[in-house]
Amino acid sequence: MDWGINLKYKAQPKKPKSVKLILWRYFTLIALLVSTVISLLSISIVNYSTYLMTRDKLASISSELNGVIGMQNNVAQQDNLSTLIYRLENNNSVEIYILDIDGAILFGRDEQLENKHLNTNLQKMKQSGNPVMYRENADYYYLSSVIYQKQECSTLVVFHYSFYSQTQQTFVRCVLIVTALILLISLIISYLLAQKLSDPLKSMAQTADEMAKGNYEVSFASAEYEEVSHLSDSLNYAKEEIKKSEQFQRELLANVSHDLKTPLTMIKAYASMIQEISGDNKAKRDQHLQVIIDESDRLAGLVNDVLNVSKISSNIDQINKKVFNLTDLLYGILNKFNYLQDTQNYHIYVDIDADLYTYGDAEKLSQVIYNLISNAVNYTGEDKNIYIQLKDDVANKRIHFTARDTGKGISKDHLPYIWDRYYRVQEEHERPVKGTGLGLHIVKTILQKHGFDYGVKSKQGEGSTFWIDFPEVESVVPTI
Ligand code: ADP
Repeated sequence: MDWGINLKYKAQPKKPKSVKLILWRYFTLIALLVSTVISLLSISIVNYSTYLMTRDKLASISSELNGVIGMQNNVAQQDNLSTLIYRLENNNSVEIYILDIDGAILFGRDEQLENKHLNTNLQKMKQSGNPVMYRENADYYYLSSVIYQKQECSTLVVFHYSFYSQTQQTFVRCVLIVTALILLISLIISYLLAQKLSDPLKSMAQTADEMAKGNYEVSFASAEYEEVSHLSDSLNYAKEEIKKSEQFQRELLANVSHDLKTPLTMIKAYASMIQEISGDNKAKRDQHLQVIIDESDRLAGLVNDVLNVSKISSNIDQINKKVFNLTDLLYGILNKFNYLQDTQNYHIYVDIDADLYTYGDAEKLSQVIYNLISNAVNYTGEDKNIYIQLKDDVANKRIHFTARDTGKGISKDHLPYIWDRYYRVQEEHERPVKGTGLGLHIVKTILQKHGFDYGVKSKQGEGSTFWIDFPEVESVVPTI
């Protein structure tokens, strides 16, 4: 069986619809709904008011008629009644009948009435004692009781609806035309509105595509709507950050390759010297071997920094906290810098309180302190003096650490950025400990993971003081 064939029919992900189309569709639906409701409402209002008007009109005709009938109850006055009925019929476009108790016509223009509901409504009228109005075949009928020729009778006023219905039809036609017009206008307006709302998003998508191709010079255009403008601001910020990070990474690669090259060249050169010149001269050979060892240490330090940053950034490195002697840890680190005092005239002045204990990851905090002392060594002034303090702040249950140098200091412009990854103030000068622009980023990450306070005070021309506040804890009594 060829399973591969099935792949052809693999379900394709549904293509998302455009915002413009969706908005336009919803706007149109709302416009349709609103105009339908309005037209239905106006037609019902017209119908109902027609009904009320007809009822009032028929009631007034009927009461006028009944009044006259009530007063003219002898045959001699029949002529007067006929004239009134004739007048009422002509003036009001109605037909008038006088019916006996069973609904038979006593007076009227037709001999017979084609009216299915007459008897039912006669009963209704008798029972309630009130006039009754009903509708049949689009005509209105108004029944009311009256004494005619000394008998209990009823008058029936018939109103042919055809007259009103024409007016109503014209009205309905008007309503439909207006509705269609409103719908058309709202279709156009909603299309324009949908376009206005979706255009900035479309342009942002195009800009993002451009950016994805590596063009960081693009800028996300803002819009008049708050949300879209917020989005464009965030995207512009993200773009700037990506741009910076790319630039920093490029610089780091250049720096690291440069910093790797120098010790490698030295190692090669000194190894050749041992091979060719100093092979049998122990003193010279040892001297050359020491250079190779020092340069290898620098290389290892550099590679370590790069590895540490990537480990810390990707959270592979967990913090293993324990209580440890910070004083001992600091002396241990300072020992690593002895060679600078012995060989390069550096002076490290220390003021360290004895046996101070803290709680944290000793290995990582040792790296933090090492980085700060290295920086002090790298950036101190001509006097090559460095001042290290570790003081017990009993009142606050803290241990205050400072590493001070006498160098150029850091300008206010650079100060906020020195903790950023790959950040280096571009200055050419010889440094005894090679840096990568990662040291302070490692310091920041580790101290933040511990939740310790830290910072720097620096004034240009007066040097810098980096500080950390460690929590002070009781030493652990060793268990026997
Ligand atoms: P680097 O490897 O370049 O020393 P860091 O992350 O340790 O990287 O420091 C970042 C930048 O901060 C340095 O390039 C330097 O410009 C500045 N900086 C750090 N420590 C000091 C200091 N003690 N005095 C002056 N500038 C410093």
